[in-house]
Amino acid sequence: MTDIRVRIAPSPTGPLHLGTARTALFNFLFARHTGGTFIFRLEDTDQARSSVEFERDILDGLHWLGITWDEGPAVGDEPERGTFGPYRQMARVARYAEAADRLLAEGKAYYCYCTPAELDAERKRQEETHEPTRYNGRCANLTLAERAAFEAEGRRPVVRFRVPRSRVIAFDDMIRGHVEIDTDALGGDLVIVRSDGTPLYHFTVAVDDAAMAISHVIRGEDHLSNTPKHILLFEALGVAVPRFAHLPLILNPDRTKMSKRKSQTAVADYRAQGFIPEGFVNYLALLGWSTGTEEEVLSSAELVEKFDLATVNKAGAVFDRERLEWLNGQWIRRLPPDDLVNRLRPFLQAEADAGRIDWLPTDEEIRSLLPVVQERLPVLAKVGELIGFLFVKDLDPDLALLVPKRWDVATTSVGLEAARRTIAATGEVAWEAEEIEAPLRRLVEDRGWKAGDLFMAIRVAVTGRTATPPLFDTMVALGYERTLARLDRAIEKLGAQAASST
Ligand code: GLU
Ligand code: ZN
Repeated sequence: MTDIRVRIAPSPTGPLHLGTARTALFNFLFARHTGGTFIFRLEDTDQARSSVEFERDILDGLHWLGITWDEGPAVGDEPERGTFGPYRQMARVARYAEAADRLLAEGKAYYCYCTPAELDAERKRQEETHEPTRYNGRCANLTLAERAAFEAEGRRPVVRFRVPRSRVIAFDDMIRGHVEIDTDALGGDLVIVRSDGTPLYHFTVAVDDAAMAISHVIRGEDHLSNTPKHILLFEALGVAVPRFAHLPLILNPDRTKMSKRKSQTAVADYRAQGFIPEGFVNYLALLGWSTGTEEEVLSSAELVEKFDLATVNKAGAVFDRERLEWLNGQWIRRLPPDDLVNRLRPFLQAEADAGRIDWLPTDEEIRSLLPVVQERLPVLAKVGELIGFLFVKDLDPDLALLVPKRWDVATTSVGLEAARRTIAATGEVAWEAEEIEAPLRRLVEDRGWKAGDLFMAIRVAVTGRTATPPLFDTMVALGYERTLARLDRAIEKLGAQAASST
C-alpha cells in the first residue's frame, strides 16, 4: 500500500468528453501502476447546469472504458465506496461552509459587499486606464460598523479569500517541470462563496483534495493557471500541497484546442460508431504519452505496467482519427470470434432497424463471415457496408456504378453475360473462391478485357457496392443461386437501359 491517492473530478454539466476520459485514464493508470488509490468525485455544485443524464453518461462511458475506481459515490445499485466520502460535492456543502468560517475567523478571508454593478464599473475603469483587471480590495478591511451599514442596505456579501500581492507561486510540475506564476496575475482576492452561500470551484476543489488526502493532482493543462490559487488555498487551510501533473491539451488537426464545434468530443459518439474499449483506451493513452518505443498496440494491463507520468509530453497532442481507427481495427482483429459476433450483433440490428437489411443473420452466419470481415473493420458500424448486401432480398444495383468507367452499357452487358455463363458452369462443380476466380481470369484474358473492369461490374451486380470484401469470397458467402439471380437482374437492367436509349 502506498499513500498515493489520485482522483477524477468531473462536473456533470455535459456528456463525457474525450479530454475527461483521457484525464481519468491517466489517473487510473498512475494509480494502478503505483499501487495507489483512484477516487471518483462528482463536482456537481453547478446545479443549474448539472443533470442526472450527464452524470449517467459520464459513469457509463468510464465503465465502458474499463476505468474503475476504488472510492466513489453510490451509483445505481452500487453503494458508496471509501471512507473519505461523501463523494458528491452537493453532499459536502456543510464542509465548505465550515472551512469558509475557519478562513474568515483567521482573517484569511473576508466578506465583500460590492454589488455586481459596482464591480463592473470598477472593471471598466481599470480597462480604460489599462490597469490589470482585478478586485480592488475595497472590502478587505471593513470595520464592523461599515459591515453593519452594508447589511442594513440589504446587501448580501460574498466571501473573498485574500490573495497576497506580488508573490511568486512556484511548483514542480511532474510533466511541465518548474512553473512560476505571480499572484498579481490572479485577479485579486478570490470569491470562494457566492452571496447565496454556494461555494465556488477553486474552493471546493482545494477543500476536497485536502479532505480526501489527494497526493497527486493529475489534470488537463487548461487548469495550470488555477493551480496557484489552489496552492494558496491549501496553505491557508493548513494542509500539505499535493504534487501536480498537467496533461497536454488535446488539439484538432489544425492545432487549435479541441472543441465540440470542430471535432467529435463525446465519448458516447465514438462508442455508437463502433469503437471498442480496447482500441479507444489504447488510443487515449497515446494522446500525450508513449512507451518511448515503436510499440503502439497495448492492452490495459500493458498500459498499467508501462505507464509513467515522467514520460508524458509537454507538447499538445493532436487528435488523429485515422490512427484511432487503425488501432481500433488492430483490436477488432484480436477479438475471439464469439466475442466479435456478440459485439457486431447490435450494429447489425441497427442496420435492420434502419431498413438497410431485410433480415438479421444468425450468430452462425455472422461467425462464418468473420474470415472476410474481421480484418476489414476499423469500427464495428462498418459491418453493414461490408456484409449488408447478403441480407437484402432484392438488390437493385445503380446503373451508374454497374457500368465501369472504361466500359459502356453494351460492353458491360456482354461482359456480365459471359461471366454469368462461366460462373454458372463453375458452380455446378464447386462453389469456392479459387474455383470461381480462375475461369473468370481466363475469360478476361481471352476477351482482352481488363480484370478490374469485369470484376467491378460483377461486384456491383452482386453486392450493389464498389468496395467490398474480396469478390470471390463474397460470391461464396452469397451462394450459387443468389449470385446468379443478381447477375441476371443486372443483365436485365442493362438490357432495359440499352433498349430505352436506342
Ligand atoms: N470539475 C473540474 C473539471 O471537470 C475538476 C478539475 C480538477 O481536476 O481540479 O474540470
Ligand atoms: Zn467588495
